[in-house]
Amino acid sequence: MSDTPKAQSKSGHYSVFAIAREALRLHSGWRRAWASPQPRNKYKVVIIGAGGHGLATAYYLGKNYGITDVAVIEKGWLGGGNTGRNTTIIRSNYLQDPSAAIYDKALKLYENLSQDLNYNVMFSPRGLLMLAQTEHEIRGYKRTAHANSLQGVATQYIDAKRVKELVPIINIDGPRYPVLGGLYQERGGTARHDAVAWGYARACSDMGMHIIQNCEVTGVETQNGEVRAVNTGKGRIECDKLAIVVAGHSSHVADMAGFRLPIESIALQALVSEPIKPCCDVVIMANTVHGYLSQSDKGEMVIGGGTDSFNNYSQRGSWHHVEETVRALIETFPMLSRLKMLRQWGGIVDMTGDRSPILSTTPVKNIFVNCGWGTGGFKAIPGSGWAMAELVAKGQPGPLAADFGLDRFVEGRFIDESVAAGVAH
Ligand SMILES: Cc1cc2nc3c(=O)[nH]c(=O)nc-3n(C[C@H](O)[C@H](O)[C@H](O)COP(=O)(O)OP(=O)(O)OC[C@H]3O[C@@H](n4cnc5c(N)ncnc54)[C@H](O)[C@@H]3O)c2cc1C
Repeated sequence: MSDTPKAQSKSGHYSVFAIAREALRLHSGWRRAWASPQPRNKYKVVIIGAGGHGLATAYYLGKNYGITDVAVIEKGWLGGGNTGRNTTIIRSNYLQDPSAAIYDKALKLYENLSQDLNYNVMFSPRGLLMLAQTEHEIRGYKRTAHANSLQGVATQYIDAKRVKELVPIINIDGPRYPVLGGLYQERGGTARHDAVAWGYARACSDMGMHIIQNCEVTGVETQNGEVRAVNTGKGRIECDKLAIVVAGHSSHVADMAGFRLPIESIALQALVSEPIKPCCDVVIMANTVHGYLSQSDKGEMVIGGGTDSFNNYSQRGSWHHVEETVRALIETFPMLSRLKMLRQWGGIVDMTGDRSPILSTTPVKNIFVNCGWGTGGFKAIPGSGWAMAELVAKGQPGPLAADFGLDRFVEGRFIDESVAAGVAH
């Protein structure tokens, strides 16, 4: 089996006919989904980070701008960062106009992503419900629903009775925090996070791009204020343009290039229960008690909460966090108290002060950054890749990215999503 991108580009289209053909020959004819080439000395564009955002940037560079001389360089395995560690919530009901625009673009792309990539990302628009458990939340969610209707994003405020109809396992009566209503986005839901990374990686590889795994970027070379090359575990690689898309490691890599970013890195944890029979077909976020849950296709209850309360780079779970999150949710979901936990984990998220992302040019010519998605960037992957590809290809942001530049932190022009985002997934 050849590993070169060229041979990969001949790999078959996934279809019911391909499955039938391979079944007849005992699945001996599948090609590798993506190639594992050695890096060349030079590429037009180098992207650091093969998470969802880096891979989607590469994909739309090829698809929308015909730029395929691209390497995506990853220190671990593709999708092994936050993209493979999140709880897969997808929604677009953010408050501010620039956020609603980019998240809704992403949601629209998710709706056809499996067909576009010829890879089943298991997008499941099962509905997304954010519970209102205080008077303050009712006001906040009604405001978001009004803003969303002006933005053309379909969301609605529903009462507690409707919440109970949608989620029979919920206890709406309190005692501490009775459910008073909720913000419901019917088009929201989940997708399979690994498949999103794998689908983009396969499509990029088919276009002849290089995805280079196990290759850490250790230095960024600049000359006269312009990018020249990156130094990696597999040697020096020159590039005309460099995109830094490394989430929780953004400050480190920016430091290599000689500038600072307004990013804090903090662990965010999640856990899953043992699998049980289907009991909940809506994604639910309870922002007052700081927890959220959905049920995976395997039957596990997927549960998450807030970030750790201190900055850190620890990609692992901790007992006290599990206890806090589950304790918070049990009043509203009493059935959780009967479940055993199966596993827990953590990822390093990249937080900005206004809880909005950064898609921006930088003080170094031809270096671009995409980061700051914090606890909620999985849902944004297609829209972010689309906007970032435009930024890299044209050297300046298009309408989707225009408001998310680094200059907003200097000008005080924040896109404040900290209240509207709540738990912020
Ligand atoms: C527990 C948890 C739950 C979450 N839940 C949700 C959710 O429900 N919904 C939602 O929308 N979002 C959620 N998120 C957030 C979401 O996962 C992230 O915002 C998103 O995945 C970020 O993608 P990325 O491609 O920017 O980063 P990553 O997927 O982290 O990719 C960055 C990559 O860069 C690589 N890298 C770093 N440094 C270097 C280097 N020096 N050289 C080469 N490579 C490098 C890393 O290895 C990594 O693979 C959650 C996150 C966590 C941790």
